[in-house]
Amino acid sequence: MSRRVAVVGAGSSGLVCMKCCLDEGLEPVCFESSDDIGGLWRFKENPEPDRASIYHSVIINTSKEMMCFSDFPIPAHFPNFMHNSLIMEYFRMYVNHFQLAKHIRFNVRKHRQASLSHKCGSSLQLTVSMCVADPRPEHKEEIRLFAFWSVGC
Ligand SMILES: Cc1cc2nc3c(=O)[nH]c(=O)nc-3n(C[C@H](O)[C@H](O)[C@H](O)COP(=O)(O)OP(=O)(O)OC[C@H]3O[C@@H](n4cnc5c(N)ncnc54)[C@H](O)[C@@H]3O)c2cc1C
Repeated sequence: MSRRVAVVGAGSSGLVCMKCCLDEGLEPVCFESSDDIGGLWRFKENPEPDRASIYHSVIINTSKEMMCFSDFPIPAHFPNFMHNSLIMEYFRMYVNHFQLAKHIRFNVRKHRQASLSHKCGSSLQLTVSMCVADPRPEHKEEIRLFAFWSVGC
């Protein structure tokens, strides 16, 4: 059985974290409190409580050569300093290319995690409890066991 890694947040950090897990033969399960990827870079007309928000015209101040994922170049026809909509487009290309979507659980907020508490064979596993924003009964509260967890937020 592959070792599962809890990744918290599907912003740029969480996305690359999932991809690195897959490279290492680990199984990422990403918990994203909102209903989409992108984190800070997903512009919303009506900002959500507790979430930082960019404004509509924001252009990133990091060049595409500096900010791109090292194994997934930003398309040549994208400008060097991208508008936030192109950053989101790039993130979606990354998710599609590495087939990350199936590993993401949306509308799930990591609420707390217990301390290392469970021994399974030779490895310690972590109990993660989550409080869920989504009303679906099967997602009300969930306790899962993970070998590791990583905060991508
Ligand atoms: C105002 C501002 C301007 C910036 N401008 C630039 C810039 O020009 N260039 C640059 O390179 N960087 C900039 N940054 C830095 C920015 O933080 C990074 O570019 C990038 O967004 C960090 O990605 P992240 O995945 O770590 O966090 P985020 O993009 O914040 O994503 C975190 C994700 O985790 C989710 N999440 C949070 N808590 C939980 C929880 N408890 N359970 C489940 N999910 C959760 C959130 O919904 C979100 O989707 C800026 C930051 C700010 C605040």
